[in-house]
Amino acid sequence: MNDVRAALAAVKDKIAAAAARAERAPEDVHLIAVSKTFDGGAITPVLAAGQRLFGENRVQEALAKWPALKADYPDVELHLIGPLQSNKAKDAVALFDAIHTIDRPKIARAIAKEMAAQGKRLRLFVQVNTGEEPQKAGVMPGEAAAFVALCRDEIGLEIAGLMAIPPAADMVEPHFAFLAKLADELRLPGEPPLALSMGMSADYESAIHLGATHVRVGSAIFGGRILA
Ligand SMILES: *Cc1c(COP(=O)(O)O)cnc(C)c1O
Repeated sequence: MNDVRAALAAVKDKIAAAAARAERAPEDVHLIAVSKTFDGGAITPVLAAGQRLFGENRVQEALAKWPALKADYPDVELHLIGPLQSNKAKDAVALFDAIHTIDRPKIARAIAKEMAAQGKRLRLFVQVNTGEEPQKAGVMPGEAAAFVALCRDEIGLEIAGLMAIPPAADMVEPHFAFLAKLADELRLPGEPPLALSMGMSADYESAIHLGATHVRVGSAIFGGRILA
């Protein structure tokens, strides 16, 4: 049986060590505990250990378990890290504090409309398909600048950061470095740097080395998933 409390502590230690090696402040790296496929019973010990930032990849699944958990832990922060359909925009805006997967005008517009309707501002990340994989979500790298400009100038969205999931078969470092460079290029004058959502259980330490501000760690905390 996996001891989630010890696993969480070990991940946090590794994050702090990776930040120190990169000469970065540990508080500049946010750990998103990815609780997808795990139920409230598995999540509660992680909450009890003090973790407050969680990631989910499906709106429906998150809706089924988080309202009850949030009743006990109202200061939880929830990030949507999976693909979003525009017919789920309303639920997503109501439940989540951040969305990492803005990748097309239709979704950007649906989220903007819902944030206005609900009077709520989420932190929004644009997902970039750095490996240009046909089956994967995310804007193509060559279209990222134009898409971010569209979000900012036409749709009126503030873009907080960029997110990527490198191809499973590739070395991750070039993808992380690419995302960091793109974030530099898309930074607005006078504004803080864009956040970088990159790195999962297998590679969060390299992601931190290359500038990750948000690492999305699931199995290293919760153990293996039966469903993907
Ligand atoms: C599942 C998932 C993760 C976490 O993956 P692990 O390898 O279990 O850490 C991170 N990011 C996204 C987008 C995911 O869907």
